[in-house]
Amino acid sequence: MGENFAFFLPIMMASFGIVFGVVWSWRVRAAGYWSAAFFCIAGGFTIPVAFAALPSAIWGFVADLLFASGFLLFSQALLERWRPSWLLAVRVAIWGLSLLLCAVAIALDDLPLELISSDFGCFLLIALPLIAGKDRLGNWADRVLFSAVALVALDNLIRGSTVPLTLSGGDFQDSAYAFLMQALACVFGLFLALAALAANMLDLLARYQRDALHDPLSGLLNRRGFDEALAQRTRRGTAEGSLIVCDIDHFKSVNDEYGHALGDRVIVALARILTRFAPPSAVTARFGGEEFVLFLPDMNAARAAGIANDIRESLALEVADHLGLARPLTASFGLSTLQRGDVSIDEAMARADAALYEAKARGRNRLCVRRALSTPDAPPAPDPRSHAFRG
Ligand code: GH3
Ligand code: MG
Ligand code: MG
Repeated sequence: MGENFAFFLPIMMASFGIVFGVVWSWRVRAAGYWSAAFFCIAGGFTIPVAFAALPSAIWGFVADLLFASGFLLFSQALLERWRPSWLLAVRVAIWGLSLLLCAVAIALDDLPLELISSDFGCFLLIALPLIAGKDRLGNWADRVLFSAVALVALDNLIRGSTVPLTLSGGDFQDSAYAFLMQALACVFGLFLALAALAANMLDLLARYQRDALHDPLSGLLNRRGFDEALAQRTRRGTAEGSLIVCDIDHFKSVNDEYGHALGDRVIVALARILTRFAPPSAVTARFGGEEFVLFLPDMNAARAAGIANDIRESLALEVADHLGLARPLTASFGLSTLQRGDVSIDEAMARADAALYEAKARGRNRLCVRRALSTPDAPPAPDPRSHAFRG
């Protein structure tokens, strides 16, 4: 049986190493640790082949070193998601101590002591992440991974505790110990690899989903993210509130005079101000260019106008100074409310856009309001429901 495993196990473990290496190349940090760990374990299971080719006592220690290093890397990969770098010094100490005991056992020609030291070292290294992770299992993949790790830990603990029973006097490779170790490594190793792969892929998916919904420059939601956040609220039946659109004044000339990079810093600065003044329930987005949108759930126009004016004043007071511009930097704002009669957010958005257009037409650096029921293309000036605010 041992001979069948002799080739199968290293190939299986190295294949996992390659798969995680590919995932690592997609910028999933933990996958790098998984990959290195599986390569170490593959190396550990290759030792009997190396021993058969070139018998030497040193191979035993090389195997111990590879298994201990593999388990140290497993613990690092697991803690990367549950509690980064937790007890690193302790884990390295366990790794060193177990190898030291293995070396002493080899020197004393005491195989049971060597196996016990190796198994308990591996058990401790993989059991620590279980303690760190038990309260941090965010999704089903975390819970499956936790179960796989628990099985591997238990396997090492039971194997280490039963060495005198399973290690019969004859050849190590023919012992029940070696058979159990290889058979269970096959089953639990596969389970562990698949669970870790699922968790890593889910992380990757979440990252792509996050990227697809956010604007990389400002960190705010993009238009798709905004639409999705609003759609979620509509499903929950809470899409009433106020809508503010905001557009930086004469932004093109900022770019022309100071360069695109400084223009980008202006966008980031405004995004920070928006986040600072928006309540936690607000949905804040950059719709592209220098245009931002703020949805304030369940907030009436008067309170929303107060927030818009705070943002407008902060921008005018802080940003030009902070970025060393010799000219004032302002933005114009349009506000509308989203009401029960609206078929979609688009109607409120059209009203807010019309109010913004009005603010630009009236000289910029101001807020104009259009409540529901006003006609978006009505001439702005005589409309009695449209108010201009200027601090
Ligand atoms: P107004 O007061 O009428 O809004 O004038 P404006 O110059 O702000 O308006 P316009 O729409 O003509 O100019 C928008 C400019 O925004 C044009 C474009 O170069 C710049 N822009 C769009 N996206 C970005 C970006 O990501 N970074 C930078 N730096 N500039 C951008
Ligand atoms: Mg503009
Ligand atoms: Mg614009």
